[in-house]
Amino acid sequence: MKKRRILVVGGLAAGPSAAAKAVRTNPVAEVTMFETTDTVSYGICEAPYAIGGMIEQEGNLVAYTPERLRSEKGFEVKTLHRVEKILPGKHRIAVRDLKNRSMIEFDYDKLILATGSRPRRLDVEGEDARNVFHLSTRDDTLKILNYLKIESPGKAVIIGGGYIGMEIAEALRARGLDVTLMHRYRLPMAGLEQETREQILDELVNNDIHFVSNASVESLVQDKQGIIRHVVTTRGSFECDLVILSLGVEPNVELAAEARLRLGEYGGIVTDERQQTSVDAVLAAGDCCEVKNVITGKRMYLPLATLASRAAWVAGENAAGGHATFKGGIRAIAVKVFGLEVAQVGLSSEEARAAKFSVATESITAFGKVAIMPGARKTTVKLILDRRSKRLLGANLYGGDGAVLRADILGVAIQQRLTIDEVSRLDLIYAPPFAPLWDPILVAANQAKKRVQHAD
Ligand SMILES: Cc1cc2nc3c(=O)[nH]c(=O)nc-3n(C[C@H](O)[C@H](O)[C@H](O)COP(=O)(O)OP(=O)(O)OC[C@H]3O[C@@H](n4cnc5c(N)ncnc54)[C@H](O)[C@@H]3O)c2cc1C
Repeated sequence: MKKRRILVVGGLAAGPSAAAKAVRTNPVAEVTMFETTDTVSYGICEAPYAIGGMIEQEGNLVAYTPERLRSEKGFEVKTLHRVEKILPGKHRIAVRDLKNRSMIEFDYDKLILATGSRPRRLDVEGEDARNVFHLSTRDDTLKILNYLKIESPGKAVIIGGGYIGMEIAEALRARGLDVTLMHRYRLPMAGLEQETREQILDELVNNDIHFVSNASVESLVQDKQGIIRHVVTTRGSFECDLVILSLGVEPNVELAAEARLRLGEYGGIVTDERQQTSVDAVLAAGDCCEVKNVITGKRMYLPLATLASRAAWVAGENAAGGHATFKGGIRAIAVKVFGLEVAQVGLSSEEARAAKFSVATESITAFGKVAIMPGARKTTVKLILDRRSKRLLGANLYGGDGAVLRADILGVAIQQRLTIDEVSRLDLIYAPPFAPLWDPILVAANQAKKRVQHAD
């Protein structure tokens, strides 16, 4: 393979995966990764568990140091280096060395953008106060941990009821804080099915989370020291010592936009199956990109580590001279809400209707292991399918042990375009401590089969 200079922008998840894959594909490639912060390969997904104290050593979230990436993965790492400009015509980037403020230029044969996403802002005064936090970088994790340690706050307000809001709510309860979680809709976790969302709300309330529905923030009220003491909303004013913003993320695409890379409907970079962007020699992967939904064939914005890593391998391999493709994916998410496992795979019923499928749904609740076994708990499975093709399009699962891993089985079925009849004939394990003779998936599929047969 030819020697190539490959530059990678972004060093958290997609960046290191792409860089490492490039080196494995083409050992004579010279690969350099640039990262604005001082940390690379950080397990931000585990950060809520470090904040909650379930993971005792926050340092364990650093999967690789720059030194280890150099010695074990074989590429150069430049932390505290912010890429400020792409000059696509010259195959060159301009980089700010944040230690001495100097600008340096680097030439590339291939450039991979892995600039990720950034948290949405509230855009109200006081958002940058010392006791208001986002959670998207190691610095955020450390600041939250430090604030908890030094200030011992008693009351927390979390703004945003998505999955990160759920995880942080549980973490702060575990730390003994009084937690108010406010959300702009009636139920948490928009995007899941209504019954799943209701179950999540019950679980939050049963675990002493004060859930404030249909709330929009109007202002943050500071004391003389600049600390936010009240969050004023359309549903009243709430006292706080600490505020966490979990309003979702948006793609980080300034560099890409300035270099005139094509962006999609959701603001993410558009790539083809080889992760090639619309600009010659520039590839992209991860949260900065849109991804093809294999069920609808349309692009979506789905900032998940799983999709980021798969796309990054493809970008890395192709930048190094290989021929890999990433065909897209499905939504496959899970969250632990105190004692409840919750998972969603594929489309929601609303999305399926919007995509013009003829939607049928079926919900069942059944024991996740043999009912007389100690600790047996129920799991609810809701299937979303297309009446015409009888294909499974999506599922929500919630309940006790096993709901999330069962969702994975359904995720595979969706990706493989299985019909409900095929799902009902899957050979799933029966073993009393793990699963009953008729797994909840099979119970749901058999019921759903009858429902769509009736539709004929
Ligand atoms: C609290 C939390 C929990 C999560 N839990 C899960 C989970 O359970 N499962 C799951 O699949 N996903 C989860 N995610 C999402 C997952 O973390 C992201 O999908 C993943 O990190 C995306 O990786 P990325 O490398 O594309 O982008 P990012 O993680 O956003 O990293 C981009 C990096 O690029 C750097 N950068 C940006 N611009 C420049 C520039 N101009 N120059 C140099 N460097 C730059 C940034 O500093 C950053 O380090 C979670 C996210 C959060 C915040």
